[in-house]
Amino acid sequence: MKRIIDAARSLAQTRGSFYLYDEDSVFRHIRLLKTAFPLAQFLYSVKCNSNPHVIRSVCSQGLGADAASLSEVMAARDAGLRRDQIYYSAPGKTPDHIRQAILKSILIADSTGELLQIQAAAEEAGETVCAGIRINPDFSFGGGPGVPSKFGIDEDQAYRFLAEHPLKNVRICGIHVHLKSQELRSDVLAEYYRNMFRLAETFERTTGFSLKFLNLGSGIGIPYSPDDRPLDLEALGKTAADLFSGFRASHPDTKLLIETGRFAVGKSGFYITRVLDRKVSRGKTYLILENTMNGFFRPVLANLICRYSSDPSPEGCEPLFTCRDECEIIPLKEEGPSERVTLAGNLCTAADVIAEDILLPHLEPGDLIAVTNAGSYASVLTPFQFSSQQKPEEFFLTADGKILS
Ligand SMILES: *Cc1c(COP(=O)(O)O)cnc(C)c1O
Repeated sequence: MKRIIDAARSLAQTRGSFYLYDEDSVFRHIRLLKTAFPLAQFLYSVKCNSNPHVIRSVCSQGLGADAASLSEVMAARDAGLRRDQIYYSAPGKTPDHIRQAILKSILIADSTGELLQIQAAAEEAGETVCAGIRINPDFSFGGGPGVPSKFGIDEDQAYRFLAEHPLKNVRICGIHVHLKSQELRSDVLAEYYRNMFRLAETFERTTGFSLKFLNLGSGIGIPYSPDDRPLDLEALGKTAADLFSGFRASHPDTKLLIETGRFAVGKSGFYITRVLDRKVSRGKTYLILENTMNGFFRPVLANLICRYSSDPSPEGCEPLFTCRDECEIIPLKEEGPSERVTLAGNLCTAADVIAEDILLPHLEPGDLIAVTNAGSYASVLTPFQFSSQQKPEEFFLTADGKILS
């Protein structure tokens, strides 16, 4: 943390508000994943944070890419990944995007219509391609029966379709399932993996295809609020070890893929902003900060949701909202808390509030504030263009202490 605070202080001498990502912490989180799942390979979910330094750093650790758009396929290529390391999975890919991505990534069909489009694009390119399909399985994440979804192809529909439609230029070489984000219970994740390995067996038996990859999706969560108990990755790894090695024994050539989701970078980013003004209105103290709702949207949205909800712990809606108090607000000043303040942004809307009536040290214009959990779904989800303010810059603190812009 000291490295980050020093870097933030030095950047703040010439900058207003900015993001700062910590490569050390990114590496540490990737190591945790690799240690828990020695038989898996990991795909970085680019949509969490598409900063080029972040993508390059993550890929330097041997991760592939989970791309949610053609641009993310291109960004992964720019970071040096090969076609067989980039998995392009999203609903509603346009025929043009399929055509452009077909020789640059492994396409994962999200519907039967997309399977036909991939066939057409492969034929047009004069190639036979390996493609995956995203399955909406007969089970749900918590173990109950399958549910309707806008994602993927219902399992029984996939079996029927593949039996009735031989695809001349497409080899179905993998399946992908992603049902839930931000899970902190290791036993629920382990049960999900158990169901996934069963699905893989059923798929191979029913279709006759042999899987070159089984993409287990994401789901691995990070602690947001101080009340969150972090996922016990070590316990999960122990439980999952038998499942993974059992499947590996019967499928030595099937890659087992896990998408990192927010886990790789989520805790490794900070949003730094400064106090622009302070005022007291009818006894209430306001600090006006630079670029709040239009700098880091998630904590402002969380504040808004909690203001309107009668539930003390409103249910999450990923990736926009996880829970009350989902980011910590840390003043970069070495004094204890001494006053109750409301932190608002500099936009002309009363919705632009990041925290209400919290205890902080006395802050004056120019003082800095760091907001945590700003590595994933932070800059990428923020409406920077609103009110034509200057957008926060992004900086990357490398493992050897350099600050890259
Ligand atoms: C959005 C998405 C992710 C991201 O995972 P989180 O855990 O929600 O951060 C992973 N996989 C797929 C297919 C996604 O669409």
